[in-house]
Amino acid sequence: MASKNSTSTNDVIYTARLIRTANPSRPTGSAIAVRDGKVLCVGTLDECKAWGITNVDTRFQNKILTAGFVEAHSHVMAGMFHFIPYVGWFPRMMPNGVVVPGVKSTEELAERVREVASRTPLGESVIVAGFDPIYLKTERLSRHHLDAATTEHPVFVFHASGHLATINSFALQKYDIGPGHPAPGVGFDDSGEPNGELREPAAMALSKDEFRALGRIIFEKDTLIQYGSSMRNAGITTATDLGATIHLNDEGFNLASTVTSSEDFPVRVVAASRVIGSVNDMQDAVERIRLAQGKSHNKLHLPIVKMVLDGSIQGFTAVIQWPGYITGEDHGLFLLPPEQVVDYLRPFHNAGIGIHCHCNGSTTSQVFIDAIEQLLRETPWLDHRHTVTHAQLITQAQMRKARNLGMCANFFVNHVFYWGDQHRDITVGPDRAHGMNPCGSADRMGLPYSFHTDAPVTPPGHLHTMWCAVNRRTATGEVLGENEKISVDRAFHAATIDAAYQLHMDHLVGSLEVGKYADMTVLDDDPYTVDPMTIRDINVWGTVLGGIPYERPVQTS
Ligand SMILES: [Zn+2]
Repeated sequence: MASKNSTSTNDVIYTARLIRTANPSRPTGSAIAVRDGKVLCVGTLDECKAWGITNVDTRFQNKILTAGFVEAHSHVMAGMFHFIPYVGWFPRMMPNGVVVPGVKSTEELAERVREVASRTPLGESVIVAGFDPIYLKTERLSRHHLDAATTEHPVFVFHASGHLATINSFALQKYDIGPGHPAPGVGFDDSGEPNGELREPAAMALSKDEFRALGRIIFEKDTLIQYGSSMRNAGITTATDLGATIHLNDEGFNLASTVTSSEDFPVRVVAASRVIGSVNDMQDAVERIRLAQGKSHNKLHLPIVKMVLDGSIQGFTAVIQWPGYITGEDHGLFLLPPEQVVDYLRPFHNAGIGIHCHCNGSTTSQVFIDAIEQLLRETPWLDHRHTVTHAQLITQAQMRKARNLGMCANFFVNHVFYWGDQHRDITVGPDRAHGMNPCGSADRMGLPYSFHTDAPVTPPGHLHTMWCAVNRRTATGEVLGENEKISVDRAFHAATIDAAYQLHMDHLVGSLEVGKYADMTVLDDDPYTVDPMTIRDINVWGTVLGGIPYERPVQTS
């Protein structure tokens, strides 16, 4: 074999117990050679050495190296848990690697709040986040639970849904929120007193200092840095900020560009601007994206845009087809007028920018797919890869049509575990719940798909999404949708190369192939050979990005 002797000092060969490439031509290997941050060769150690490289690094000799995981739908906000104490139901790893136990009752929540208050100067805000009342069998969270924690600080409990907060009596008083307060979204108890609930941003903003503090944290440089850490901890090497917290104005973009280009920053970021404003603003948005694309670099990419059409299924705000929800009100909420969707999307489609549209419900999936069909009739683009993101209640007919149009799906398959029991019993009923996030059907009909965690909505991590897609177990251990299970091999591809495909980045990331970035996930065990029920328990050592190892901090509690 020909060898090149023009080796550079940063050339390296990593050996491993096994390398899984997600490249069907050569799916496995035992050594990988890296030059200039790119894959030079994957195969045996001898094949790699034939390139003239003598620098062999054996630190991964007992590990499994896989093509780096690609997350096509998350949010920089996932970094906020470094600054705001986490109070969700499930245990969760923080960006620094520490696992915080779950909060299982209003009493435990009060205990957590009391602890934070004890190290906060009197009168200053106590903010906690991630609280998820859907699992609580007891009464609703009210100001009284929080008053038990402190009467000397304003307390702001930001719920996991992002649509609700609960504040204590101190905060209600501070902001003059009393009986009969006229703002929509302020909750009252039976006696007409505010109960502490603030629904949706307009009401949450009444708790001015706390809401602003939250907003500041979400947009801070340090939050982006912590987002990078939490992605690395989960083994993710390319992460999409879908509906970008990263602003495309000069200041915001330059900041993100500087942070992500630092060698300390462990992940490639895809910044997907969100379609907001009026239809007439869309051409401007296209120009802004094009300008930013001109300034992008190998760790910051802008191939796609995001649109949001509805809300969430568990919040009953996803717009779903007949017969609607089995309980609760049918108040599905269109976030853009459906008849205008095609006008909103036209400038992006015509400019060659991929469109990822948030559709939790079946009605909104239909609206989006129909809009794409119309745009394709007007302006053919054979390689658009427009993607229905969430696609949780997409129907069989919609999937066939999406496939025919060249579209993709990005399933929120973590829902099967986190909210599957609730979907079966409370939201859509067993029939449709069994068919939610239908990876098996997408597989059978050839619709390209990937998975996402929507972090911070669920914790980042593709071992968990793969586990969900392969086993389809709910939190109570029941199987939801036996016929929608897929193989480990298909799940691995959905978490890597197929996610890269819908980001228009499969020539750069998503598999270990000659010439692509040397991005790898480093695991203690092989997802293909462990008991499928333990895939999510495999330890993530960290990642390799462009040939550079990034180790997850070893957790301490
Ligand atoms: Zn999202």
